[in-house]
Amino acid sequence: MYKTDRKLLVEELENNGIVDPYVLKAIGEVKREKFIPEAIKHYAYKDVALPIGYGQTISQPYTVAFMTQLLNLKEKSKILEIGTGSGYQAALLFNMGMEVYSIERNISIFSDTLKLFDQLRIRVKCKCGDGTLGWKDQAPFDGIIVTAGSPVVPTELKNQLSINGKLVIPVGDKETQMLKVITKEDDGLFSEENYPQFKFVPLIGREGWKDA
Ligand code: SAH
Repeated sequence: MYKTDRKLLVEELENNGIVDPYVLKAIGEVKREKFIPEAIKHYAYKDVALPIGYGQTISQPYTVAFMTQLLNLKEKSKILEIGTGSGYQAALLFNMGMEVYSIERNISIFSDTLKLFDQLRIRVKCKCGDGTLGWKDQAPFDGIIVTAGSPVVPTELKNQLSINGKLVIPVGDKETQMLKVITKEDDGLFSEENYPQFKFVPLIGREGWKDA
């Protein structure tokens, strides 16, 4: 089931400018319908964000693909995701052969997604807590991807990057954000690129928004 829809979605993403072959391959393989509530599964391969309960969403496939492409992953790398949500983004990274760590602050979402990972044999190391503080014991990371919008770039996340590591994070107000790619260069300094006009649910935490 859904095999054709997956193929069509990959074509649509290619037409919209996604070029990374590893990302396209993963989107063609990971079953997005598994990460979506039963009642709306038939929307799984539309290029839209969908509600996953608790006021949260699974991001639009284009956004997931674009952010993953920005991480510029080649060989096996150690990646930290902030905002596990439905688990789809983490599942893509796992499918791409990455060593994935993921943090979710909402305990109900956290436990539902943990069960799903178990069922689907997706081996992602998960933690329930405030992701704005990163995962210090496991740092440094080659990539950190934040899937909720923040008012600022949390300092701890920059600190937890390895040399040549990239942090991809939406930063802005609650209405719209720009995707920032922060790279820790060879000399330890940070460079920054910006891609405007995205919309995410808020990142809530010590270095994020204080409320929803
Ligand atoms: N990557 C997810 C997108 C989920 S939406 C997916 O593929 O479905 C963003 C998620 O970030 C929500 O589940 C929300 O509860 C979570 N979140 C918000 N602030 C957070 C924080 N400080 N730490 C960890 N998770 C957070």
